[in-house]
Amino acid sequence: MGRMPHATERVSIRSAGRPLRELRFLSDSGLSAARCRGDCFVMSWGFDYLIVGAGFSGLTMAERLTTQSGATCLVVERRAHIGGNAHDRYDDHGVLVHTYGPHYFRTNSKRVREYLSQFTEWHPVDYKILSWTHGAYWPFPINLNTFEQLVGRPSTPEEMAATLEKWRVPIASPSNSEEVILSQVGRELYERFFEGYTLKQWHRHPRELDASVCGRIPVRTNRDDRYLAEKFQALPAAGYTRMFERMLAACGGRVKVLLNTDYREVLPQVKFKRMIYSGPVDEYFDFSEGRLPYRSLRFEAESFTPEQLVSREPISGKKGFWQPAVQVNFPNDHDYTRLVELKHATGQLCENSTVIREYPADFGPGMEAYYPIPAPDSAAISSRYKARADAEKSTSFLGRLATYNYYNMDQVVALALAEFKKILGMDK
Ligand code: FAD
Ligand code: UDP
Repeated sequence: MGRMPHATERVSIRSAGRPLRELRFLSDSGLSAARCRGDCFVMSWGFDYLIVGAGFSGLTMAERLTTQSGATCLVVERRAHIGGNAHDRYDDHGVLVHTYGPHYFRTNSKRVREYLSQFTEWHPVDYKILSWTHGAYWPFPINLNTFEQLVGRPSTPEEMAATLEKWRVPIASPSNSEEVILSQVGRELYERFFEGYTLKQWHRHPRELDASVCGRIPVRTNRDDRYLAEKFQALPAAGYTRMFERMLAACGGRVKVLLNTDYREVLPQVKFKRMIYSGPVDEYFDFSEGRLPYRSLRFEAESFTPEQLVSREPISGKKGFWQPAVQVNFPNDHDYTRLVELKHATGQLCENSTVIREYPADFGPGMEAYYPIPAPDSAAISSRYKARADAEKSTSFLGRLATYNYYNMDQVVALALAEFKKILGMDK
């Protein structure tokens, strides 16, 4: 086992066939990241765990392993920041934004909530979303308010339930995303709210996607117009990145973080007992079982001054905002799927506002793999990788990309907590 580098050590890496590179090294004292200079070449570092990825999976494991079992960890992250897809930041206009699309934290798990609450206060939010189609904003997901807007008069839960019963297509066990919606609300509402959005988002027909994809969206006959159904819905009060910083701070000197670094670059230099891997599983195995399909995204931000926002007040209904809800979905208009104005949800007191348009994109070289695609063809490939991963005894595969599952943040944390317990058991 090599030694663990000191917090202040100058670090650079020479990997096979590549020139000497500087690495960003995060010191013990938090995230005052020092850029390392010079020509020092570290022959061998020793850690108990090499953690690939500084998202929810990697940082939950780093925090648990260091604080609960005294282990040392090296976290290697190829992006320039911690937090994975849940990273947030203040943009140039002072607005707190989610860098990789809106991340609405929600959970039914007391364990996950209590775990994360050690590192953050919470700002409770009822995430309310509208769908823009047929020239109007519609409450979404479909609920009694949506139904009343559709029929153009007041109604009741009983009338809505009876009408959906007439409209729905009787399908006993929906096997894909088209059937799951048709079986609940029928063809007209499916075409109005789901078909176009899904085609745009996935570049596939809903028939070619598992029922779980559109099945994520609830349909209600009451007036509950919240997007999500979980009991606890809130955002970290000071943001996700601040929460992740606190998780790392809790690790004290037992964790080192290298940013801007692919773990394969440092593998020759690092000795470790176990790897925790949260990158794409097909990449780990050099695509030997075939390439898994992913969906990517492109984000386009636009910011507005208070003066520019004045003209939007008749639409947003509120001073200082551009649109009437945190998220507006566009099933049938534009090339983007949704337009997010996070300030509605964060409650940030800030005169400017920023909206971010989200354009679905094909995955390919240079693109981020944002979404695994839940479908029968990808399941066939991912089950082969799962068998390979299960056989890899000194690596834990964790999170959305390493297990190829469309997981939410709380599910990823729950799985990391469970994996930590399993690893503790192995050590005994
Ligand atoms: P990630 O966050 O993807 O982190 C993995 C990290 O590993 C990445 O930072 C990556 O750069 C790094 N990495 C990969 N390969 C390597 C390598 N070779 N070397 C070094 N580093 C590497 N969840 C919710 O609960 N609510 C939401 O509202 C929500 N909205 C979402 C919106 C979008 C657009 C997306 C894409 C996801 C959303 N999610 C949401 C899901 C959420 O992002 C994930 O559940 C969570 O971030 C997964 O954490 P993770 O650590 O497994 O993976
Ligand atoms: N969906 C849709 N219309 C909408 C919102 C969602 O058809 O207005 C479908 C679409 O296929 C989407 C899936 O439901 O990918 C899940 O939506 P969610 O908002 O949960 O997606 P995420 O936030 O994970 O991108």
